[in-house]
Amino acid sequence: MDSIVLHFIVIMSVSGILSVILSIIAHANRHRYIGCQLFMYMSGATAIYIFGHTFELLARTPEEIKFWVCFQYIGLPFIAPFSLMIVLQFTGFHQYFTKRRVFLILLIPFLTTIMVFTNFFHSLFYRSITMNSVDGFLLADFTIGYWYIIHIVYTFGCSMLAIFMLLWFLRVTKKEYFKQILILLVGMLLPITTSFIYLLGVTPLHIDPVPVVMFLTNALYLWAIMSFQLFQLSPIAMERVFEHMPEGVLILDRYRTLIDYNPAAASIIPALAKKGIGYKIDDIFSGVIKETAFIQWLRSPQDHSQYDLMWEKEQPFYYHLTASSLFNRRGEVEGRQIVISDVTEQRLLQEELERRAYIDGLTNIFNRSSFIERTQLILEEDARDTAILLFDIDFFKQINDTYGHHIGDEALRHVVSICQQHLKMDDVFGRYGGEEFAICLPHHSLKEACHIAEKMRHSFETSFLQTVGKTVQVTASFGIAHTAYDSHILEKLLFEADQALYMSKRKGRNRIYASTGAGYMLYQEHDLPPASH
Ligand code: GH3
Ligand code: MG
Ligand code: MG
Repeated sequence: MDSIVLHFIVIMSVSGILSVILSIIAHANRHRYIGCQLFMYMSGATAIYIFGHTFELLARTPEEIKFWVCFQYIGLPFIAPFSLMIVLQFTGFHQYFTKRRVFLILLIPFLTTIMVFTNFFHSLFYRSITMNSVDGFLLADFTIGYWYIIHIVYTFGCSMLAIFMLLWFLRVTKKEYFKQILILLVGMLLPITTSFIYLLGVTPLHIDPVPVVMFLTNALYLWAIMSFQLFQLSPIAMERVFEHMPEGVLILDRYRTLIDYNPAAASIIPALAKKGIGYKIDDIFSGVIKETAFIQWLRSPQDHSQYDLMWEKEQPFYYHLTASSLFNRRGEVEGRQIVISDVTEQRLLQEELERRAYIDGLTNIFNRSSFIERTQLILEEDARDTAILLFDIDFFKQINDTYGHHIGDEALRHVVSICQQHLKMDDVFGRYGGEEFAICLPHHSLKEACHIAEKMRHSFETSFLQTVGKTVQVTASFGIAHTAYDSHILEKLLFEADQALYMSKRKGRNRIYASTGAGYMLYQEHDLPPASH
C-alpha cells in the first residue's frame, strides 16, 4: 500500500518540477510568443497545486495537512480559468479581454481561495475533514460543502467551454493549426476526465489523481513548445500581424459590408468610429470622399485592382489602395480585402525631387533648362505673337560686395517677386543665369511686351529693397525679341534678346532695348515699327 502512496508522491514531485520548468520557459518567451504570459500563470498555478498536494501526502499532522490544502488552493482554482483564457486567446477572442472581464473570470477562483483559508470559520468548502492513517501516511478525507460544488461547477464549466471552443475552432481554422489544437484539447481533456473519475470516488485510496495526470499534460505541453513551438504558429500570431500592420486593412463580405478592420485602418479613416462594422463600404466612404471614380472603384468587383487616392484632410494625404478577393475553402469568393498604404511621404518626396529638377532653389521660379523646355513648347504650339525678355541686374557684383552675398540673394528674390506681380499664369518666368532672368510672354505684341518690361523696370527702380537697416536700390537692363520681328526659333530669339540687353547695358543700364529685326531700339513708350511678318 505504502508503495502506491509513494509512487503518487514521486510522480507528483516530477510533475510539479515539470510545471515549474514550463512556467519558466513560458516566462522567458512571454514577449516572443502570444499566449505565453497566460501559459506561465497556468503552469505556475499548476505547480502550486501539485506541490501543495505532494506535501499534503507527506504531512504528519492534521494541521500540516490543513496548511498544505490551503496552499494548494492558491493555485488550483485558477488553472481552469487560465486554460479557458489561453483558448480564448488562441481562438482570437483576446480583444474582448478587458480588465473588468478578466477580473470577473477570476472572481470565483479568488473567492474559492478565500473560502478554503477561512473554512475553519464557516465550513462552506469542506463540511468536515477526517484523518485516516494508511501505512504510516496520514490521509485526509473531506466531506464537501456548498462552495466546493460552486468551485467544481465553475472549474468544469471553464474547462468544458474551453474544450467546446477548441472543437469549434478545429472546424473553422486552417489545418496548419490542427496539431496545436489537438495538443491543447488532449491537455485539457486529461485532467478534466481524471477529476471526473476522482469525483465518482473510484480512485485508489481516494487520493486526487489529477496532479499525476498533470504530469502527462505538462509533459505534452513542454514537448509541444520545444518541438514545434506550440504558440509560434498560433492563428493569433496572424491576428497580431493584422493588428500591427502599418497598412490599413478592411475586410468586406461579398455584399461589400465591412466585417473587420485593423487599427491602422481606423486611424486612416476616422469615419470608421461612427460608421464601422456592419456598414456598406461605399456608404462609409461616400460621406467623406467626393471623388465619384473612387466610389465606383470601391463598388467594382475586379480582383487585384488598385487606386491612388488623394485625400484632403487637414492636409493632403496620398493613399495607394489594393483590393483583392477573399476565397473560402471551396474556392468561392467570400468577400474582399482592401489594403490601404499611406504613401504621402514618398509622394511628397517624389514631388519635391521632381520640383527640384525644374525649379530654381533660391528664387522658386523655373530654372534655365525648364524655362527653355516650356518656352519651346509654346513656340511649337503657336509662335505668332510671342515675346522673349531677358533682363540682367545692374552692378550686381557691387551689391554683393557692399552688402554681402546674403543681401545679394535677397535682392534676387526681391526682383523676382516684383516681376511676378506683372506676369500672368501663361507667362513663363525663369532664372537664366546668376542675376539674369528670362521671360516668355505668349500672345503679346512687342509693344505689349515692352510695356510690361517698362512696368517691371520702373518698379525695380522705385521699390527699394529694405533689409536690416539698409535700403538698396536694384535696377536692371532689359533686352526683348519678338517672333513677329525675329525668328520663331528659340535660340535665335534668345540671341537677339541678349544682343538687345547688351545694348541696354552699353547705353547706360536701367533701360529697355528691343530687337526690331533690323536693329535694336530703345523703348520709351513711343511707337514701334510695324511687324515685318
Ligand atoms: P552688370 O551691370 O554689367 O551686369 O554688372 P554686374 O556686376 O551685375 O555683372 P557681373 O557679371 O560682373 O556680376 C554678376 C555677379 O552676380 C557675380 C556673381 O558673384 C553674382 N551672383 C551670381 N549668382 C548669384 C547668387 O545666386 N547670389 C548672389 N548673391 N550673387 C550671385
Ligand atoms: Mg549684372
Ligand atoms: Mg550677368
